[in-house]
Amino acid sequence: MLQVTFCGAARTVTGSMYYLEYIASDGGKFNFCLDAGMFQVGQKVNLFKVNSHLLFDPKKLDCIVLTHAHLDHCGRIPYLLKMGFGGKIYSSKATKQIAEVVMRDCARINTDEQTHRDYYFKEKGMGKDQFDEFDVEVDKLIAAKPEPEKENLGLYTEAEVDQVMPRFKTYGYHQKFHIHPELQVEFYDAGHILGSCCVVITEIKTGRKIVFSGDLGNKNKPIVEDPEVIEGLTKTTHIFIETTYGNKSHGEQKPKELLRKVTFETLSNKGKLIIPAFSVERAQEIIYFLVELMRENKIPQVSIYLDSPMASKVLEICLEHPQLYDQAMKDSISHGKNPLIYSRLKILESSQQSKSINSLDKPCIIIAGSGMLNGGRILKHLKFNLDKPQHTLLMVGYQAEGTLGKQILDGQKSVEIEGKLYEVKNRIELINQFSAHADQPILRQWVANQILSIHQEIKPTVFLMHGEKEASEGFGVELNNTFPDRLTTHWPFFGETVKLWS
Ligand SMILES: [Zn+2]
Repeated sequence: MLQVTFCGAARTVTGSMYYLEYIASDGGKFNFCLDAGMFQVGQKVNLFKVNSHLLFDPKKLDCIVLTHAHLDHCGRIPYLLKMGFGGKIYSSKATKQIAEVVMRDCARINTDEQTHRDYYFKEKGMGKDQFDEFDVEVDKLIAAKPEPEKENLGLYTEAEVDQVMPRFKTYGYHQKFHIHPELQVEFYDAGHILGSCCVVITEIKTGRKIVFSGDLGNKNKPIVEDPEVIEGLTKTTHIFIETTYGNKSHGEQKPKELLRKVTFETLSNKGKLIIPAFSVERAQEIIYFLVELMRENKIPQVSIYLDSPMASKVLEICLEHPQLYDQAMKDSISHGKNPLIYSRLKILESSQQSKSINSLDKPCIIIAGSGMLNGGRILKHLKFNLDKPQHTLLMVGYQAEGTLGKQILDGQKSVEIEGKLYEVKNRIELINQFSAHADQPILRQWVANQILSIHQEIKPTVFLMHGEKEASEGFGVELNNTFPDRLTTHWPFFGETVKLWS
């Protein structure tokens, strides 16, 4: 018997966590989680309350299988440990390394409610109004059970992250392993961020399988491969797929060309290009394109300052895993031109080094956190540079309501930074074509490859996860139209339990 309870990313895009209960042939119980991510936004809900409210007893949890290192997939692992979880965590090696950076960063955040919420807005950029329906469901569930005691320390500390790390056991793509004598797991490349996995779980005695997409990547992203084709799994009974962009097509995207244009114009005008960047994946992607553009002589040769300790650590981890790169990256390296290593790329470690570049009076590129300008070293650079018209502030991701990034993007002539008003005279630009998530055509193809190889007598259920209403429902309609009578779709709600195998 196998059943799943949807503990997150159900009718919303954060908090990915599935709780699975398996009863083996000898009647023994085995419980495991697929991901243990954090809820990251919510206007009315208390995020501490939502994240600390668990739908199962962590003491009875035997292991966690982790798809990738984004906070909304790994962020609650130390909390589960704190509440009694004592098992192993299975992931790829890169996921383990990046997850450590992400969980430590989270532990350091002051988790008083408002700071907590602001932090998630700045890092994830979700709209404040997207969660009303979800909030009601959470409130209902919380009302039905006693509320956990609130602590001011936040969900966990770095000491708890220390205790989590030795519990990781890592495997590469296609390396089969067992989480239980009767359950085998295999990772496939999800092409989303470095080390990201789709997970296939097989019951050995019957050959039945369930497939989890994790977050699926966009095509032609730099550094990582495209999402891997999974086929030949004839006995798949259930597919869990993310649907962040389930109702959208990205269309033709040319982020590198857009970046070239803004960079060339700014540097030619003797200005500085200031890029607020998200630390995991986006910052490395921007560096990749900038270094390529310089090597191709399409933009002036200037210093690129990476002023984000978290992004620098993730960059280091990227350099440790050449086997995970896509062909374009491998080709560049074989020609002695690794796009993440460049003489003009300078990593700023200390805040002293960070300050020192303000006195430089020449064109350069500054990449600093956070991506939505609600904290981090980017604020220091803004204070110094925002009133100078020759500079450009280039946003490279969605700016959520209520963030400084959004205020500037909306054309405010002056903004408040750390209690003081600053005039906005920079050229303001936005490139929103750096999506890390698959669009509808990629998602549909990913499902199609599997459906075509599943035995005709099996009609798999596809769970539409990790999406807002229109995205998930839109993708459900698309799947039902494309594969009439070959599958059923289900859009689960938070807290719902579904029996997968009897
Ligand atoms: Zn992700």
